[in-house]
Amino acid sequence: MEQIGHFINGELVAGTSGRTADVFNPATGEVIAQVALADKSEMDAAVAVAAAAQPAWAALNPQKRARVMMKMVTLLHRDMDKLAEALSREHGKTLPDAAGDVIRGLEVVEYCIGAPEMLKGEYTDGAGPGIDMYSMKQALGVCAGITPFNFPAMIPMWMFAPAIVCGNAFILKPSERDPSVPMMLAALMEEAGLPKGIMQVVNGDKEAVDAIIADETIQSIGFVGSTPIAQYIYAGGCAAGKRVQCFGGAKNHAIIMPDADMDNVVDALIGASFGAAGERCMALSVAVPVGKDTADRLIEALIPRVESLKIGPYTGGNDVDFGPVVTQMAKDKINGLVQSGVDQGAELAVDGRGFSLQGYEDGFFVGASLFDNVTTDMDIYKQEIFGPVLCTVRADTYADAIKLTMDNEYGNGTAIFTRDGDTARDFANRINVGMVGVNVPIPVPLAYHTFGGWKKSAFGDLNQHGPDAFKFYTRTKTVTSRWPSGAREGANFSIPTMD
Ligand code: NAD
Repeated sequence: MEQIGHFINGELVAGTSGRTADVFNPATGEVIAQVALADKSEMDAAVAVAAAAQPAWAALNPQKRARVMMKMVTLLHRDMDKLAEALSREHGKTLPDAAGDVIRGLEVVEYCIGAPEMLKGEYTDGAGPGIDMYSMKQALGVCAGITPFNFPAMIPMWMFAPAIVCGNAFILKPSERDPSVPMMLAALMEEAGLPKGIMQVVNGDKEAVDAIIADETIQSIGFVGSTPIAQYIYAGGCAAGKRVQCFGGAKNHAIIMPDADMDNVVDALIGASFGAAGERCMALSVAVPVGKDTADRLIEALIPRVESLKIGPYTGGNDVDFGPVVTQMAKDKINGLVQSGVDQGAELAVDGRGFSLQGYEDGFFVGASLFDNVTTDMDIYKQEIFGPVLCTVRADTYADAIKLTMDNEYGNGTAIFTRDGDTARDFANRINVGMVGVNVPIPVPLAYHTFGGWKKSAFGDLNQHGPDAFKFYTRTKTVTSRWPSGAREGANFSIPTMD
């Protein structure tokens, strides 16, 4: 059985805590590896290595740090197939989707090549007589990141690339469900020229996370995962005086106006609701058709498309639309929620619960389900299902549809489908959601913009990647310097002004 340890000080090392977690191939249900779960002493050791290595890395000129990112881009392209295969094997998503996971991370690595520009400070020449003032953006020191299972390449890269290029050392605590790709990424960073100890991977669970929160050397925590854990880490990290950003769960609504192009809407919903088996924080999980006629047309068009979705293992080639969910526990939770929807009175237009794939009976496959007439008091509406289930909540008017979306506790992504620019513009302006699509189902911003939700989908002030990442991973120091010429003025006991 493969044993996955940690990546410490440039080396693969075995865990010493004696605790491990099983890593599954979700397509077959087999245990394919065991991953070490670090205890506090292992985390402490990694932090000590990071703290020792970081000052020299921060002292290197930003161009040289950026060159590591340039090389990393090349290596990611070189190893794309290998990374995608390892990712699919532990996560279950299709190979093209796994390559997309790597590419959306790679794009942030590319963006980080611009670090010398992003890290330029500010300078005021002659702020007063003989006085100059300048601001520097300096690294924080040792930073930590805690990532979810659903994007094991992209989200680690969204964190470690900006953190490291800013001059920090970074400790990644990836999901224990699919740890192989994060370990491969750390090895690639070293191959790209990163000094030992600047990027480390410490595998683990709550114990490792608690060690990060309690550690006094770690200056910042980036977290992506479910909302309860996001709140726990945000509260603990802030109380410990760290800089913290935590991104949580989602319930993304798609509003379908009566004038929308229904063929486009159905294509968009099929991909965005069922792609990656719905295990995306930007999945569209709630369809909100406006008006009875729109809703009837939508459901009629969706049913045959949902029924004909092709589900299979990542080895199934291009014919597979989506793969299994990540664990048996996730499968049971999804099926349980579908049953709760039936019990609570929603109309199950397509029932995916009985799905089984010949030869893969032990895999964690869940068929696609479509609900109609869902109401806001039902568990399938209130909870994040994180599976291949699309809920339809019918709205009488645009005003009802926008209110529904705004009243939802989550605010990660949303989309409106319409041909009317006025409605689209009003929606984009008024909606209290962080990422908005207009006829775009998954509006994940590109690397040079920022990614982040509102409400219970994000805790903290700054978003991920884009310019916000350079703010999150640096702190500002402002120097006021005076080189007096001529007579000295003596002591001044009032607050200095530049008059
Ligand atoms: P999760 O919250 O179970 O785990 C995320 C991380 O937290 C993992 O590294 C895990 O080891 C750790 N963790 C789990 N339980 C913990 C505990 N009790 N104490 C401390 N740490 C703990 O999330 P997941 O199932 O891996 O990922 C799916 C979730 O992530 C969904 O809710 C999804 O919406 C969300 N997500 C959000 C975004 C975003 O940008 N907002 C992006 C991707 C995923």
